[in-house]
Amino acid sequence: MGTDYYQTLKVDQSSTAEEIKKAYRKLALKYHPDRNPNNKEAEERFKEAAEAYEVLGDAKKRQIYDQYGIDGLRNSGYQGPGNFNDIFSSFGDIFDDLFSFGGARQTQNGPIRGADLRFDLNITFMDAALGTEKEIEITRADTCDECRGSGTREGREAETCPECRGRGQVIRSQGFFRVSTTCPTCRGEGRVIKDPCKVCNGHGLKEISKRLSLKIPAGVDHGARMRVSGEGEGGRHHGPPGDLYVFLYVEPHEFFLRDGADIHLRLPLSMTRAALGCSIEVPTIHGEKTLEVPAGTQSGDTLRLKKQGIPRLRGGGTGDMIIEVDVKTPKKLSSRQKELLEEFAVLEEENSTADEGFLKKLFRMAS
Ligand SMILES: [Zn+2]
Ligand SMILES: [Zn+2]
Repeated sequence: MGTDYYQTLKVDQSSTAEEIKKAYRKLALKYHPDRNPNNKEAEERFKEAAEAYEVLGDAKKRQIYDQYGIDGLRNSGYQGPGNFNDIFSSFGDIFDDLFSFGGARQTQNGPIRGADLRFDLNITFMDAALGTEKEIEITRADTCDECRGSGTREGREAETCPECRGRGQVIRSQGFFRVSTTCPTCRGEGRVIKDPCKVCNGHGLKEISKRLSLKIPAGVDHGARMRVSGEGEGGRHHGPPGDLYVFLYVEPHEFFLRDGADIHLRLPLSMTRAALGCSIEVPTIHGEKTLEVPAGTQSGDTLRLKKQGIPRLRGGGTGDMIIEVDVKTPKKLSSRQKELLEEFAVLEEENSTADEGFLKKLFRMAS
């Protein structure tokens, strides 16, 4: 006989009963028909493993098999594969924690909470920074007013499903093993409606469109999720409704760049303004503010307008506006401007600065 039960379970003859049980459990779960629907190959593996465990999982049968092989086992009265038609009841303990067969499954006769819904909302940078109120329209399944979600005609109660007796699951034989599947009569609900509500045809739900006003707090950021309690799908059989989750997508701003609660802005500034220093009006999310640019500001220097950034969501004040100065060298000069700059250059050379000292030193070294 080519059948080697040890090989089938990937164990060896010295394996303990516990090891064999573990090995079988692993294979049985891997090839379980619930996880491999319509897979003949998996079904075959599943049967083989079950057959091997039928023998190796039983100390007495294993002993006979070890000594006399499968023929010895047959002579001892073992019927072989095909005759144990209920491996789940034989080895139920192996599956108990993963598949709830039999009466372990929760009955579904109670109230059913509505599903949660998701709504994606685009908002502008300014709306996110300052907060806003948005009106959205959602289409969703809502509890039927007529039957209050029960799906039955007024005054009637749904009946417990006769096929599954309210469990929502039925056990079916597939070949020589049994599997638990959703009850086809009640589709897993555990009850049947003989006299359905005329408005919702027994679904307990009806589609509605609803406008909702959303208060978006100042300081929300891209990817933020807002929960609107009770605005999800309607519940059935007196269950509560689900929740609505609004996912926020913040559009980027043309000039402002957000970094947490701070906002960065690049400010182009003329060479002369940077050299002389100036007061300049800059845009912030709170309107125009006066920025003092000190004399001698270099390109790349950052200046800060305190508390002109974005409010932090859970308290904790407001971020800053951080302005990075971008000093612009003029590209076109009028003759007068040129004249003045030439004059400036002469004066600059006369007032020998540290930089020029450095340049002289460089020339000396090069010559
Ligand atoms: Zn109804
Ligand atoms: Zn049923």
